[in-house]
Amino acid sequence: MAGISNELSHFNGRNGLGAVMGSKNVKAIAVRGTSDVAVHDKETLQRLYRETSELAHTQVQAHALNQFGTIAGVEGVNAGGALPTNNWQNAVFPGADKIGGKRLNEEFLVKRGACYMCPVRCKRVVAVPDPVYAVDSEYGGPEYETAIAFGSCCGVNSMEVVIKANELCNRLTLDTISAGMTIAFAMACFEAGLLTKDDTGGIDLKFGNEHAILPLLEDMAHRRGLGAILADGSSAAAKKIGKGAERFLLTVKGQEIPMHDPRIKTGLGLQFALAPNGADHWFAQHDPFFATETSPGCIALAQMGLGRPVAPLSLGPDKVRIVAYTSYLNALYDDLGVCVFAAVARSMTGLDTLTAMIRAVTGWDVSLWELLKVGERTNTLYRLFNQKQGVNASADMLPGLFFKPFADGPLAGTQAIDQAEFEEAVRLYYAMCGWDPDTGHPTMGKLSELGLEMYAGLPDADSDVRRASRAAARADAHA
Ligand code: SF4
Repeated sequence: MAGISNELSHFNGRNGLGAVMGSKNVKAIAVRGTSDVAVHDKETLQRLYRETSELAHTQVQAHALNQFGTIAGVEGVNAGGALPTNNWQNAVFPGADKIGGKRLNEEFLVKRGACYMCPVRCKRVVAVPDPVYAVDSEYGGPEYETAIAFGSCCGVNSMEVVIKANELCNRLTLDTISAGMTIAFAMACFEAGLLTKDDTGGIDLKFGNEHAILPLLEDMAHRRGLGAILADGSSAAAKKIGKGAERFLLTVKGQEIPMHDPRIKTGLGLQFALAPNGADHWFAQHDPFFATETSPGCIALAQMGLGRPVAPLSLGPDKVRIVAYTSYLNALYDDLGVCVFAAVARSMTGLDTLTAMIRAVTGWDVSLWELLKVGERTNTLYRLFNQKQGVNASADMLPGLFFKPFADGPLAGTQAIDQAEFEEAVRLYYAMCGWDPDTGHPTMGKLSELGLEMYAGLPDADSDVRRASRAAARADAHA
């Protein structure tokens, strides 16, 4: 769960990239520029930037991100009955308003922050009046994910604790999603008697104990006491704790899932399962962007063939196509260093503008079709990397919780994802990507099309082993 921090408040939080640096004994990278960045057509680029910046004030989603930040989503998701609560054992949290965007903006917001030159300015800069939880504003403020991971997921209704936990994670370079989820997992183990006060150093690790969060975070960073067990994340901790602790895990490929319930947006469930780096909520675009004809995805991505509305709970071919095409788009965004919050469908930078910007910067006469092929090639390279590392189709599976109905709230007893339908959708995604529907390995035809034929014939795990592990994953999902 070690991240990489940039200027104290901008984070490459997920996937343990900080541990990769640590394994190479690299503590920091400092860059000092000595000359300008060469731009092919500066005048056009500046015009496009000006036009896009103006949209940040008028375009609905960009304006909402600026005004309220991502944390504004907490109260609405709770009202809809899908707020991850008590390690996802519940879906409604009575204290949601105390950890939500309205309270943050009214009581703690100092100003809005931004990444370099971004007109959206979606970030929060906060201060806490209570000296016990005082924070250094340089470390930024909590996002939606952080508020839920340390808030409702741990049963904690203190915004002060959420803000301080966010600051601590940024100081200690811990991913807030994985850190919060790992503490929530430990709380579930404690409530079930798998951990006792002997294990916790006397801490009463029940859901809702706000006083447990901050000391435990410090202990995780410094590998002290229970923190040493939790330091490598919940998946590793479950192995150390044993006694069936795996049943409280909410992970995909060992990574803790972000704070979005796939039972209200099934395409997101496909993303969680299919993302090469483990559960990732920005592997593709989210289902509500395509819910109606006037939804932002249907409008902004119509030129990709995604203009038709698709129900958020569908797992049919139309939904799989959205996940496939937008997994290429989001891979392209990652290749370019484009923020998903500043670009369509989440926000205002459209595909034509993006293409024009790339032309202006590089001088290449590049088309959107070619750019999407770059994204597709990237997505296929992710797959090949995992294939080489022995991460196969059996890992493309959701935690079993999501194949069961909601336990409480307005959606109680409903919306279990049909597992057979889900597995069929995964196979269809492989096929749409030009990957083998059984193994998920890119076919020779697709590799040749993308100019990746040199990677044909990568070693593959034994097919019997693969079948066995898929069966095991299925059994686990039913547990
Ligand atoms: S929209 Fe993206 S680039 Fe802009 S401030 Fe927010 S996170 Fe940074």
